[in-house]
Amino acid sequence: MRPVTDDVDTEGFFSLAADGKLGVATCGACRAVLHPPTGICPACGAVDVVWRAVAPTGSLVTWTVVERQVNEAFPTPYTVVLVALDEVPEACLVGQLPGRHELVPGEPMVAHFDDDSVLPQWRRVDDRAASPHPPAGQTQGDGA
Ligand SMILES: [Zn+2]
Repeated sequence: MRPVTDDVDTEGFFSLAADGKLGVATCGACRAVLHPPTGICPACGAVDVVWRAVAPTGSLVTWTVVERQVNEAFPTPYTVVLVALDEVPEACLVGQLPGRHELVPGEPMVAHFDDDSVLPQWRRVDDRAASPHPPAGQTQGDGA
């Protein structure tokens, strides 16, 4: 599944993402953050949208674990996360982590782009938590 990358309101995000950068729309006139992206600034009415790259770091706002698979492109379990960007806390981005995790509200997250993908992937900054918890009924080290 690939996102629509040429939509007038979001193509700036995907253009930056193609270079491995996380982008946020801002008003070129008053610098207000336009998130979610919109063509008209709600603060000043300007139609001058400027996309700028921001640090790919944020903090976890909330999450949920998806256990029931509805699309083969998204194997379960996976964790849907909402991350507030450090540089622009009013901009929250949705992402997903493979597997189940013992998460903590506010914990640091970092985004990266896999090769050939314009969708940011989030991961936990805490390396001890980097590997997903095994599915219920299994323990790490099982299998082979
Ligand atoms: Zn404005």
